[in-house]
Amino acid sequence: MSGEGLTVRDLRVTFDGFTAVDGVDLDIRPGDLRFLIGPNGAGKTTLVDAVTGLVKATGSVRFGDQDLLGRPVQKIARLGIGRTFQTATVFEELTVVQNLDIAAGAGRGIWTMLRRRKDVPEPVARALETIGLSDLRDRPAGVLAHGQKQWLEIGMLLVQDVRLLLLDEPVAGMSHDEREATGELLRRVSEDRTVVVIEHDMDFMRAYARSVSVLHAGKVLSEGSVAEVQADAKVQEVYLGR
Ligand code: ADP
Repeated sequence: MSGEGLTVRDLRVTFDGFTAVDGVDLDIRPGDLRFLIGPNGAGKTTLVDAVTGLVKATGSVRFGDQDLLGRPVQKIARLGIGRTFQTATVFEELTVVQNLDIAAGAGRGIWTMLRRRKDVPEPVARALETIGLSDLRDRPAGVLAHGQKQWLEIGMLLVQDVRLLLLDEPVAGMSHDEREATGELLRRVSEDRTVVVIEHDMDFMRAYARSVSVLHAGKVLSEGSVAEVQADAKVQEVYLGR
């Protein structure tokens, strides 16, 4: 395992007097594949928004030796932190390779990026391989299946050398096979990066999580391995009303 870990201390986010994230502590080790679960409104998205700089928060958030809190969104992104949303945002008219090229290409001319080339840059070729879209590299992204678009979006983070990936329900709307392929992809990606996944799909979580944090009403209700959180009476109460 290599890379940087994410350390969150006493994180709080308040909207007009309502506390959406209420003193959260997290220790996510480098190379972790951490699932954030919890009922709707638990504060999962707001927590990720705070880490990526989209909402104001108090407390502390560190990635490796960098302090994130209070920095602008772009600055946080440049530290190697990237996220996906539930709806993939790819350039539909551009090919798979062009999408990856553009993501990788800050500083290169747009025409260089859009030229139809046989030779793709090494990081783009590696990302194509990792996300399993090498055969579709010259197809417009708009014709990709839903799952493939999600993988392309993950690839767009990989070519930017994102080392902390924050993914919002990556398997929502996917077929069984796409879910499995996504799980395997996340395993590979988290070998040398840190991955945090917001997820509602409990079967997917059980199959692929290396660790789990259960959020409830803005707080961490439980944390540990899948087996540990499943055995936690507090978690059973929240999910099953026992
Ligand atoms: P989750 O992702 O776990 O479903 P959210 O982080 O989206 O939960 O929301 C946590 C709570 O914060 C919810 O009660 C939600 O209504 C509230 N909330 C989220 N964003 C805002 C906002 N911009 N303004 C006011 N309340 C918000």
